[in-house]
Amino acid sequence: MPKIYVSTFPFCIKSSLPLEMMKEAGLDVVVNSIGRKHTEEEMADLLQSYDGVIAGTESLSKYVLEKAEKLRFISRVGVGLDSVDLAACKERGISVAYTPDAPAPAVAELTLGLMLNLMRRIHQSNREMHEEKKWTRFFGRRISEVTIGVIGAGRIGGRVVRRLSAFGTPRLLINDISPSVDLDRNHKIEWVDKVKLLKESDVVSIHVPLTPQTKNMISANEFSLMKPDAILINAARGGIVNELDLYNHLKQNPEFQAAVDVFECEPYAGPLVELNNCLLTAHMGSMSEDCRTRMEIDACRELVNFFTGKEVQKLVPDYEYKVQALW
Ligand code: NAD
Repeated sequence: MPKIYVSTFPFCIKSSLPLEMMKEAGLDVVVNSIGRKHTEEEMADLLQSYDGVIAGTESLSKYVLEKAEKLRFISRVGVGLDSVDLAACKERGISVAYTPDAPAPAVAELTLGLMLNLMRRIHQSNREMHEEKKWTRFFGRRISEVTIGVIGAGRIGGRVVRRLSAFGTPRLLINDISPSVDLDRNHKIEWVDKVKLLKESDVVSIHVPLTPQTKNMISANEFSLMKPDAILINAARGGIVNELDLYNHLKQNPEFQAAVDVFECEPYAGPLVELNNCLLTAHMGSMSEDCRTRMEIDACRELVNFFTGKEVQKLVPDYEYKVQALW
């Protein structure tokens, strides 16, 4: 009987269906019971005796995979593949599937929530009233008054753009290395280079994957181009925005604001927690009840398909291996 480890956390909180599907298929399943994300060392120790893994963003590095001698299938609950060494998977004959579509609506909505929150300083008012019993009536801006820049208009960024159009954003600037025709036809947007986007946007929202090209994409130089009272949102991956440069910029420019959902090291406990002009969330972009459940069901269905000899629908496509080969 194939042995499966569920390393992603949390798992099956809103529906037990994903676990039931695997058990009904006759798989021997063990679920992460430590209540947090595993370290690379823990993954290397744990995976040695398993045939398959339902993985979150835990490291599946070459080091981990070399020790996982029995491993044949990785099913990522989610879309980002920066945690999975795809070349090492290919070398070892490990198949990899993911759930690219399921998280997108939830991440797009969280992004809108972060934008609205910062534009009206909701989190600052909440914090002041709770912690200081203070009554400040903050001035803010509305989405229909500002220019918004989106870097990376794929599944998530595209949804952000479509939702912003419905809000009546007067000017939407988009930067993407592979522009989507679909958005062009239907939406009033301008495709621009990154420098123009950073200089002219009141709000910049990032939705690219973490790759060598996007690592530290927003660092001190990029901050220096942005408006002093701009808003930056990163609900993509830690490492795309340089955390130290962000901290320094926020500290030196109190009118500048940022919202960060993803961090270089998670769980995050770094210096950004000191800053009132930084809104922090705990990598919860995909954590709506429906999207998270769908991600888990899709990932478990693929794993069941693999171990019962059926066709896997969402194997990671070749271009993701090619992108990673450039690293
Ligand atoms: P996607 O592949 O559909 O879209 C990414 C877009 O970025 C593509 O259009 C691509 O052309 C563009 N891009 C890539 N490199 C670029 C560059 N250097 N400059 C400009 N554009 C570039 O991916 P998606 O499904 O929209 O997901 C995007 C990222 O969101 C994922 O890789 C993942 O890291 C992150 N994510 C975060 C959460 C969360 O909980 N916060 C959840 C899911 C996904």
